[in-house]
Amino acid sequence: MILQPEEAKVSVYDRGFLYGDSVFETIRTYAGEPFALDEHLARLERSAGRVAIPLPLPRADFALEIRRAIRAARNPESYVRAMITRGSGPMGLDTGLAEKALRVVLVEPLQALPATMYRDGVAVTTFKTRRAADEVAQGAKVSNYLTSMMALKEARAAGAHEALILDGSGDVLEGTTSNVFALTQGVLVTPPEEAGILVGITRAHVLEVAGELGIPVRVERLPLETLRSATEVFITSTLREIVPVVRVDGQEIGARVPGRTTRAIHAAFRQKVGLGAEP
Ligand code: PMP
Repeated sequence: MILQPEEAKVSVYDRGFLYGDSVFETIRTYAGEPFALDEHLARLERSAGRVAIPLPLPRADFALEIRRAIRAARNPESYVRAMITRGSGPMGLDTGLAEKALRVVLVEPLQALPATMYRDGVAVTTFKTRRAADEVAQGAKVSNYLTSMMALKEARAAGAHEALILDGSGDVLEGTTSNVFALTQGVLVTPPEEAGILVGITRAHVLEVAGELGIPVRVERLPLETLRSATEVFITSTLREIVPVVRVDGQEIGARVPGRTTRAIHAAFRQKVGLGAEP
């Protein structure tokens, strides 16, 4: 059923609303086509599996529904949020109280991001915490982002674009809604899945593109000190692609402007998705 946003309603007993008991994906289109839809749906299925939410329909059928919703929205480009909640039922934490998993697909016009972000780079702050989901379901994209929201709130209050999450030993994990890369002594480093990150789809494509460009890559722990002394740092996410980071906690990184390697990777990524080199 496709509805206008103001007509679409979810029960107040839905566990996604009551407890954040749901998983989701953020997807975007290029030329109207959902980018990496299979990869997103595979991750959604993995997330659902890690918190034992039964998929309400086969993955291929969900893909068809998502494509149908995108077509119906008729946006030049779309931002899509595909969610699965455990469903509604009597209140209580017992997951057995949920009656039937619910799926929701939200489609909005994709908002262009300011070109200055890519041209000048952004500032980030750091914040020691853990994603709520990682306590019980490492790597699952569970809708409860409260710890990340608090980190981002602090970042924005400091005039920064994103907060980088640090683990207990001070290693950099990822952004609140992005993955992080640092170019250090000519090697591109990004933290591994075991460190407790959400394995980004954009991250995977960047790793591939870096390989194609002949840039040495290491997936390993990233101490904050390494990040601070890196020549280039960037973050990646579906909606932002690749964004250069030029300041961490007020300290300037490398040459203080987006680096050559970051720009080369972004240009190659954009070519891969069928766009021109400049954002
Ligand atoms: N980490 C977290 C915690 C995120 O929420 C996101 C956004 N989905 C990412 C990383 C980046 O992932 P992707 O490239 O798949 O958008």
